[in-house]
Amino acid sequence: MFGHNFNERGDRMARDPLTREWAEKMDQTDELSSFRQEFYIQEGTIYLNGNSLGLLSKRAEASLHAQLESWQRYGIGGWTQGKRPWFFLAESLRGGLAPLVGAKEHEVIVTGSTTVNIHQLLATFYRPQGKRTKIVTDVLTFPSDIYALQSQLRLFGLDPETHLIQVQSRDGRLLDEEEIVRQLTDEVALVLLPTVLYGSGQRLDIERVTKAAHERGIMIGWDACHSIGAMPHEFHRWGVDFAVWCSYKYLNSGPGSVGGLFVHEKHLPALPGLAGWFGSDKERQFDMEHTFIPAGDAGAFQIGTPHILSMAPIAGSLELFAEAGIDRIRAKSLRLTGYLMALVDGWLAGMGFEIANPREDERRGGHVALVHPDAVRICKALKEEEVIPDFRAPDMIRLAPTALYTSFVEVWEAVNRLKRIMTDKTYEQFLNERGVVA
Ligand SMILES: *Cc1c(COP(=O)(O)O)cnc(C)c1O
Repeated sequence: MFGHNFNERGDRMARDPLTREWAEKMDQTDELSSFRQEFYIQEGTIYLNGNSLGLLSKRAEASLHAQLESWQRYGIGGWTQGKRPWFFLAESLRGGLAPLVGAKEHEVIVTGSTTVNIHQLLATFYRPQGKRTKIVTDVLTFPSDIYALQSQLRLFGLDPETHLIQVQSRDGRLLDEEEIVRQLTDEVALVLLPTVLYGSGQRLDIERVTKAAHERGIMIGWDACHSIGAMPHEFHRWGVDFAVWCSYKYLNSGPGSVGGLFVHEKHLPALPGLAGWFGSDKERQFDMEHTFIPAGDAGAFQIGTPHILSMAPIAGSLELFAEAGIDRIRAKSLRLTGYLMALVDGWLAGMGFEIANPREDERRGGHVALVHPDAVRICKALKEEEVIPDFRAPDMIRLAPTALYTSFVEVWEAVNRLKRIMTDKTYEQFLNERGVVA
């Protein structure tokens, strides 16, 4: 069921996924288990929030320290000296990043944040013309993406009320690709969608929707915040026009770490909509001329001086992804979330939980989304039990076991504690109100 058979010595306990022995067996045969030692894990705490903020690894810490040492030792010389000179830092990360999104190296760059990169790529690629003026997105997308799209429409004097089409969801949790395609009319100029929905964890059929957009002459971009580092992508092969992502979720590069973007080579070289001197051809940048000569690759979409200290941890973190391999990471992630769902089905039936994410492997991302009317209080009780979940208003508990540092025993233990909270009703001691950050 989870890709393993236990035949030796016929241990009956280890054959039943609901037993701790089964989870222990899974950890023993897990080929990625050694990566856990690379992370700072609080003793006794089960961290299931890697989809919002990944944990610190020793590699990321080391690559950050190396940049502090460069600053300490070289001062301004750090731009060209040291192990990873700052002037080329963003470009130096392409080798580790491109395989995670299925891109050629010159199609990606580490820069900005997801929201800034959406603005940059809309400013570059959104060209309303004739009756093709509308933008399609969906009702379940992350608010910042919506705000960016609304403001981009306003810059053209267009009313978001009439020009931003948000594909509806039948149940408020999932999207239907069929319905997305139906909205791709000849009035649509551009589509922006999430690869994986941040709420329900649904993975959209990126290849299919991209193809449908192109057949209708529509440009399409993807927000990969909830999929990068959790699963492979084939942005180049699928012909995706552009994509954006952050590096603080599954990429474990720290709070506010620098995001990234992909622009398909068919659009390169390009003149960025929002130009700045760090988008220059690097050979010419320090000529200090007033004629902007953009880099010939995705580096052109950089704007100002890179946030070196917020970019530094990405170098160390990407080493771990190269060593583990994104296909193995995805395979383990699916086993972990599959196991979590099996435990929820086995132990929490009749307690008011619903699994909101799709069950099929190819339709789900890296987290499990549980819906419960008392979700706020249950999350508070889980934290009291040293299980770190992620609450999303009004009633969703997101649990993200991550392939690089979560063990099967932790998944077992987390659901075991959740079961205890429900049977003992300890969650009733907490108020049903959410905090400021949640
Ligand atoms: C996390 C996330 C963001 C955050 O954007 P920032 O600019 O990094 O604050 C945006 N969109 C989606 C879909 C996200 O998951």
